[in-house]
Amino acid sequence: MSNFKVPDSVLIILKQLETAGFQAYLVGGCVRDMIMGRSIHDWDITTDASSDEIMTVFRSTIPTGIKYGTVTVMSRSTKAEVTTFRTDGTYGDMRHPENVRFVKNLEEDLARRDFTMNAMAMDMRGNVTDVFGGRDDIKKGLIRCVGNAEKRFSEDALRMLRAVRFSAQLGFEIEQKTEAAMEKLGRNVAGISAERVLEETVKMLMSPKPEAVLKAFEYGMYSGITDKIPDIAAVGRIGRIKKEKCLKICALAYILGDPEFLPKIKAESKAVKLYKLADSMACDSEKEIRYAVAVYGFGTVGAVCMLRDAKFGGYRFLTMKKIKKSGNYITKNNLQISGEDIIAAGIEKGPQIGAILTALLRHVNDVPEDNNEETLLKLAMSMENM
Ligand code: ATP
Ligand code: MG
Repeated sequence: MSNFKVPDSVLIILKQLETAGFQAYLVGGCVRDMIMGRSIHDWDITTDASSDEIMTVFRSTIPTGIKYGTVTVMSRSTKAEVTTFRTDGTYGDMRHPENVRFVKNLEEDLARRDFTMNAMAMDMRGNVTDVFGGRDDIKKGLIRCVGNAEKRFSEDALRMLRAVRFSAQLGFEIEQKTEAAMEKLGRNVAGISAERVLEETVKMLMSPKPEAVLKAFEYGMYSGITDKIPDIAAVGRIGRIKKEKCLKICALAYILGDPEFLPKIKAESKAVKLYKLADSMACDSEKEIRYAVAVYGFGTVGAVCMLRDAKFGGYRFLTMKKIKKSGNYITKNNLQISGEDIIAAGIEKGPQIGAILTALLRHVNDVPEDNNEETLLKLAMSMENM
C-alpha cells in the first residue's frame, strides 16, 4: 500500500470517527482510483455511525442527503461525503433507492455497490476489504457487476450507462455476463432523468475513448432521446476536440445530425446555438474560414471548425490556427472603418449597418489593399439600400 497517498485532511476524518468508537472506511471510486494510481477527485467514506452521530463527531458538516444517510464533512479545505452503512431497496425513479435500510456491517454496504472495482473499502491503516474480487478485476481490466447483473441493472438502469462510462474512462472491458445484461436491459435507461444521462454522456465524451458511447447507442440506452446512431469514425474524432463539455456534447448531436438531441438531453442553450452555427456557417475552405473569422471571430469559428472536423473529417481547425499565427487576417478590430463612421457618413442607423460591415469585411479579405478609411467609406455608401 506504499503508493497510497491519502491526504491528512481525509485521514483525520477516518481517525476522528474511529476515536469516537465507530468504524470508518474510504470506499468506492477513491479506493479504486488509488489502487489504479489515478488522481482522486472525491472522497467517500462509509461508517457505522448514523447521520446524527456523524454530525456530533465533526464541527463542520452539511446534511447533504440525510434520507440516504449522507453528511458532507469539511476538513480543512477538503470535503468528504460520509455515509452510514446501508443497503438500497428498490429504485422507484430508477435513480434514488426508495427504501434505504441502514445496516451494521461493511460487507452489506459493499454489496449494494455497482461494480466489483467500486465495492472495496480501505481503513486509515491502508487495509483493503475486497469481498467481490475488485482488485482482481482491476488487474484484468474488467467491469463486473456485484452479484447478478440483470438484477442489479433492473434495480437501477443508470448503472448500465456508468458501465459504459467507466469503460471509456479506464479503458476496461465489460465482463461478459454484465454486458449480456446490458444488451437485454439497455433500453431501460430511457426511464432515467435527462440530467443523469447528460452527466454520464459528457464524462464518456471527455474521456480518452469517446467512441465507447457507441455501445450505449447499440444497446438502446438513448432510445428515449434519439433513434439515430452516430458514425463510428466521427465519434472517435470527438477525442480531438478541446476538452469543453459544451463542445463535446454538441459534437455528438451534430454527428448524429439530430438538433433535438440537445434539448432532450437538457444540454445548455450554448450548445444548441453552436449546433445551429456549425450547421449554417460556410466554414470549409481556407477562404470561407477567413470570411467566417472576419465576421464571427476566432473563438466561435474555432468551435465550428472543431465540430465540422469531427463530423466530416479534415483539418479546418488547423487551417484556422495557421491563419491566426500568420497574423495576416481581417477582423472587426482591424477593419479601418466602424459602424459609427458609416452612420456619421449619413447611412441610417439600423440592421443594414451590420450587413454593410459584414460585406466590407468580406471585401477586405479578398482585396486587402482596400482596407483604408477612404475606400471603405466609398464602398459603404455604394452599399446603401443593398
Ligand atoms: P467517479 O470517478 O465518477 O467519482 P465513482 O465510482 O466514485 O466514480 P460516484 O458517483 O462518486 O462514482 O459514487 C461513489 C460510489 O458509490 C461508487 O464507487 C459506487 O460504489 C457507489 N455508487 C454510485 N452510484 C451507484 C449506483 N447507481 N449503483 C450502485 N452503486 C453506486
Ligand atoms: Mg466518486
